[in-house]
Amino acid sequence: MCAKTYIEPQTTIPVYDECDVLVVGGGAAGHSAAIAAARTGCKNVILMERYGYCGGDVTGGYVLLIPNLSFHEKTYVRGIQEEWFTRLEKIPNAVFGPPAELAGTNDPEMIAKWAGAGAVTFGGDPRICHAFMVDPTQLKIEMDVMLDELSDSIRVMYHSWGTKPIMEGNVCKGVIFESKEGRKAVLAKVVIDATGDADLCRLSGAPTSSAIDDDCRCSSTALVYRIGGFSQKAYGEWSRNNREAARALGAGIGEIHGFRAGLIHGPTDDVSWMNNWQPKRDCSKIVDQTATEMGTRLKLRAVLDYYKKNCPEVFKDAYLYDIAPQLGTRGSHRIVGEYVISSNDWAFPVEHEDCIAWHCTVDTLNDNAPIEIPYRAILPQTVDNILAPGRHISADRIAIDNVNLIPQCVGTGQAAGVAAAVAVMDGTSTRTVNVPKVQNILASEQDVPLPRNPHTDKSYTDCLIDHEYGLYTAAAKKAREAKDAAGTYRHWTLSGGSGASGNNK
Ligand SMILES: Cc1cc2nc3c(=O)[nH]c(=O)nc-3n(C[C@H](O)[C@H](O)[C@H](O)COP(=O)(O)OP(=O)(O)OC[C@H]3O[C@@H](n4cnc5c(N)ncnc54)[C@H](O)[C@@H]3O)c2cc1C
Repeated sequence: MCAKTYIEPQTTIPVYDECDVLVVGGGAAGHSAAIAAARTGCKNVILMERYGYCGGDVTGGYVLLIPNLSFHEKTYVRGIQEEWFTRLEKIPNAVFGPPAELAGTNDPEMIAKWAGAGAVTFGGDPRICHAFMVDPTQLKIEMDVMLDELSDSIRVMYHSWGTKPIMEGNVCKGVIFESKEGRKAVLAKVVIDATGDADLCRLSGAPTSSAIDDDCRCSSTALVYRIGGFSQKAYGEWSRNNREAARALGAGIGEIHGFRAGLIHGPTDDVSWMNNWQPKRDCSKIVDQTATEMGTRLKLRAVLDYYKKNCPEVFKDAYLYDIAPQLGTRGSHRIVGEYVISSNDWAFPVEHEDCIAWHCTVDTLNDNAPIEIPYRAILPQTVDNILAPGRHISADRIAIDNVNLIPQCVGTGQAAGVAAAVAVMDGTSTRTVNVPKVQNILASEQDVPLPRNPHTDKSYTDCLIDHEYGLYTAAAKKAREAKDAAGTYRHWTLSGGSGASGNNK
């Protein structure tokens, strides 16, 4: 970067609007936060988003798979996350995956039917796991529908980029933003930073940390694109019958791109998405964002030609369906909250009195068992009246690979929205908010099961008691061995060292 500086003259910024709860960022976390705040009774919510739609990585980055919502027969991640499924189910081709009622079944027919949807846990004993894939365009529309239904409480500001928190001492009073109308401010009683990269928390004086220098999955960017004109089912069959050739085909794609990339099932058989992992790229840096965008696009024609030439039996009619409108951002800066989630949280399942969401972990690690996410993990240290749900949650460099997933972002977003609304209604702050009240609203009114909560059916706890879980249990060992034997266990560091997460998202 150039060493020169420029001193900006002092200026007066017009206040564009005032509200009770301001949510900045309309991704999985921010959209859920705005909806939940309004449903809790807050009539004055603003959702500010830099692009022209909600969903962030999911709808704009084409991250289609919503994984690991259940453990055995119980779906621990419900609330707004489950609502995505039940709403999209009514729309043709908008969602693909087994309903919650099938969770836990080991019926071989069901397992064969849903394996492609990422909806089977391959621990020692395969069983159906509630998980689903979404059509990004349909979800984009449905997210607008959900906001529109609450238009008496939520004002949406698209194409508005939050640039700076307005701080009075350690208390956040609003946000400065940029748009085609110039630089303006929105004043708010509580701000929810749902930007994914802790954009506002970073400038608020609160401590943050970064995953970028680490070898973890979260320090990889992506530009997802979709390929149509071939059958994913036929490709699966061909791969099973030609294992060596399939491996070579995958390696060839990796060589063209210069990073690992793999085709993943979409909600319909005829269009697949190309997930990719571009290591050590910081999605909060211009140079890395540009390299991700251009570097991927410049190779796409060669990738398609390669598929057609080397596997014509599957790909002869394949074509580039489209490219995601925004680059995929797994993680960059994240908050250092009042609690930092670590591997301990699933190794020795930790109980948190301030639990605001269950989050199911990855099967290889923990047989899909849920961990408890505490309110303190979205509460930044030292500042007041800012919450930070979503992928920039407070977690260490190992844990973040498993807790940046969409279900956690939706769950913590929903909880942040309820907490912000309760703080405003009770005249408290994000640091003094009545957490048991937040938990009771989530559990009794917003379909979020929570541990040890009187409004949550006892069967959730019973299921945890009935089934052994935890990183060092026989069940987890069996799951890892089964994956090892099948050659599908991935030690997750990008440079190939031994990692701990086993996460392939
Ligand atoms: C390629 C890829 C594959 C993945 N695979 C999976 C998977 O299979 N399953 C899974 O569960 N997870 C997966 N993940 C992770 C998951 O998609 C993300 O962690 C999750 O969607 C993040 O949600 P979020 O709302 O926290 O952040 P984001 O989705 O990043 O949303 C942030 C929103 O804020 C907006 N914004 C940002 N800054 C500002 C600002 N300053 N002002 C205004 N608006 C702003 C953005 O435009 C965006 O809409 C994957 C991620 C990638 C990139």
